[in-house]
Amino acid sequence: MNGAVRPRVLIVGGGYTGVCLAVQLVRQSTQPLDITLIEPRAQLGQGMAYSTTDPDHRLNAPTYVHTVIPQDAWHFTRWCQAKGLNRHDPQALHADGARYMRRSDFARYLAETLQSHAQGAVNGCRITHCQDQALDAQRTSSGWRLTTRGGQVLQADMLLLATGNPPLRLPAPFAVNWRDHPAVIENGLDTQRLKRIPRDARVLVLGGGLTARDALATLLGQGHAGPLVVMSRRGLMPKPQGPVLPVLEKIDLPGVLDQLPGGVLMDRLANPVPDFLKQAGPAPTVRALLRALRQRIGQVSAEGVGWTVPFDELRDGLWQLWPQLSSVQKQRFFQRLRVWYDVHRFRSVPQTDTTVQKALVAGQLQFWAGQVQAVTQSSSGPGLQLGLSLKLGGGRQFSAEVFDAVVNCTGLDTAAGLAENPLLQALSAQGHLRLDDARMGLAVDTQCCALNAAGLAQVDLRVLGPATLGTFGDPIGAMFIGGHVVRTVPDMLQVLQGS
Ligand SMILES: Cc1cc2nc3c(=O)[nH]c(=O)nc-3n(C[C@H](O)[C@H](O)[C@H](O)COP(=O)(O)OP(=O)(O)OC[C@H]3O[C@@H](n4cnc5c(N)ncnc54)[C@H](O)[C@@H]3O)c2cc1C
Repeated sequence: MNGAVRPRVLIVGGGYTGVCLAVQLVRQSTQPLDITLIEPRAQLGQGMAYSTTDPDHRLNAPTYVHTVIPQDAWHFTRWCQAKGLNRHDPQALHADGARYMRRSDFARYLAETLQSHAQGAVNGCRITHCQDQALDAQRTSSGWRLTTRGGQVLQADMLLLATGNPPLRLPAPFAVNWRDHPAVIENGLDTQRLKRIPRDARVLVLGGGLTARDALATLLGQGHAGPLVVMSRRGLMPKPQGPVLPVLEKIDLPGVLDQLPGGVLMDRLANPVPDFLKQAGPAPTVRALLRALRQRIGQVSAEGVGWTVPFDELRDGLWQLWPQLSSVQKQRFFQRLRVWYDVHRFRSVPQTDTTVQKALVAGQLQFWAGQVQAVTQSSSGPGLQLGLSLKLGGGRQFSAEVFDAVVNCTGLDTAAGLAENPLLQALSAQGHLRLDDARMGLAVDTQCCALNAAGLAQVDLRVLGPATLGTFGDPIGAMFIGGHVVRTVPDMLQVLQGS
């Protein structure tokens, strides 16, 4: 370590994870730190998830699971009240009292909260934004030396990787050159491209998850009148949200918010694994966990409780259970069960659901189960001719279809994304990073220390956020990322104190 008075921390990535790390380091540190966030976007806090400007792109869960201070579950809720968003964005309110805020407002909240921690006011810590892309990092005798695309060289005692979600990529059989075709939109979150689709176009949306819901929200929100088809391999759709905390019904009443315990979120994550899941044994298999979950759902539904309650208990305890699974079991989960897990886990935003249901009832929208097998330029116009293999009534049928536009909402593939990131590639090539045993992301220990090629944990190189998917099973949502940040920052600070 450098021997300087202020330990220096470099955080690569300025999305939710990077911002949460910076805020938590400041709040928990007892000594001044120099923190630099390296992020090419002009606004910190946006990342891939919250950079959308479409007002119909909303957070997929209520305000209390979206906080950058997980020790204070109601921090974002209070910010929304203080900014008058309840008045300015009345559509955020759902019938059960929960508010599903615009993702762009969450980005604004993250940027403002970061700003309030940035200038040494809390405990002398400073946060600087280096608006650039990190390309390479080398270990030195005193820490890390990082270089950016813009030619800057930064030194640090600790390097934190918060590089987040991989870019959306077209699936096979689309070759790379289809990216440039005017009828193909590789990134279904690119609202500027979606806006240019003619209102009467016949559009195929590839993928059935929440990204597809966002694309539908944009298209239908701009008055799209042409036919829309959403196609995914199994034709599964995200489930609707389950019941939320009963207190949300009263949250806008004077004084209610002030009396709520801030620790509800962290308590939920710290809870011991529920007993019904322990039935799966000390070295559980995915099948045994699924059996235990099904049994529990059967039991509670007899008492009038919905499936989301036991499912959420599994989700919240997964980070503790996951390390007990063998590599084979983890791979089995990702290959066979993840798609089912995801439609129950990533539930649709009620406002978007209403829009989608209307289009479905009107016959404008259809959901198909199938795969693209062949792509050619349409001979009759600027669109594409697609050879589709469709699942129909237990069998498969080949169908040739012409679409004016194809919107890709698949390919959020963590492991493939790592290979595209120059910094992660450089660190892997030097042996500082390696894939986890499920080959879904980067290998880390329980404190999020990166494991090197020899399997040794590096206390001054940590990885947080979606890249730890294979190690923790489900570290994707803000609440879970925040939980891991709060849990691991004390260990980071202890290491920095020894510097
Ligand atoms: C479209 C979408 C919507 C979502 N909605 C929700 C939601 O409503 N609620 C929820 O809880 N979760 C949601 N999620 C999950 C989301 O993963 C987390 O909530 C969280 O935002 C992840 O933050 P992140 O900073 O790790 O990743 P990202 O948001 O992907 O940000 C990573 C950042 O790192 C930067 N970066 C990468 N490599 C480098 C480099 N080499 N140098 C410099 N910078 C680099 C990128 O520019 C990017 O800004 C959503 C995810 C997506 C993709």
